[in-house]
Amino acid sequence: MKVGVLALQGAFASHVATLTDAGATPIEVRRPHDLAEVDALVVPGGESTTMSMLLDIAELRAPLADRLADGMPTFGTCAGMILLAVEVLDGRSDQRSLGAIDLDVRRNGYGRQVDSFETDLEVDGLDGTFHGVFIRAPVVERVGPDVEVLAEVDGRPVLCRQGNVLVSAFHPELAGDARIHRRFLEAAFASGTAAT
Ligand code: GLN
Repeated sequence: MKVGVLALQGAFASHVATLTDAGATPIEVRRPHDLAEVDALVVPGGESTTMSMLLDIAELRAPLADRLADGMPTFGTCAGMILLAVEVLDGRSDQRSLGAIDLDVRRNGYGRQVDSFETDLEVDGLDGTFHGVFIRAPVVERVGPDVEVLAEVDGRPVLCRQGNVLVSAFHPELAGDARIHRRFLEAAFASGTAAT
């Protein structure tokens, strides 16, 4: 199975490192031919407005939407969560999301840069806590009926899954802990679409 990391902007290098720790050999995805090679994809944190624009410039939006519709296992973190959500509140008017997970999210919902924070999370299915790094993180304001909430902070979902799509409001690639990435890879491997 080949896993890609969308490498247009943002924290992609840390995801590549964490996936490598988790035992994968990730591919950086910058063009449609890169995307065609991968069976699963990480959409990193960064700036969702910029990443949304770069998806169009790189001609990746349509092929990515097709792969998502086909059920490609995809893990979006922070800005990646925003890009994969159905509805983005406080986004730029020209910002377009991919609607791959039935969530409404508010950009920078926890406040501005100074309101970034770290906290230990209880994650469904993980033993012990996971260190959550939140950087101008999105707040989940609506959760669709088919979405599972795997972790919360103060009653707000911060790790969610629907089918093959996993999203986090925090940055698991900055925790020095590859468990969530490993779980994503295992689930991707187990899903039929990920078999090569
Ligand atoms: N606030 C950023 C955005 O709206 C996301 C921040 C992040 O990915 N760390 O895209």
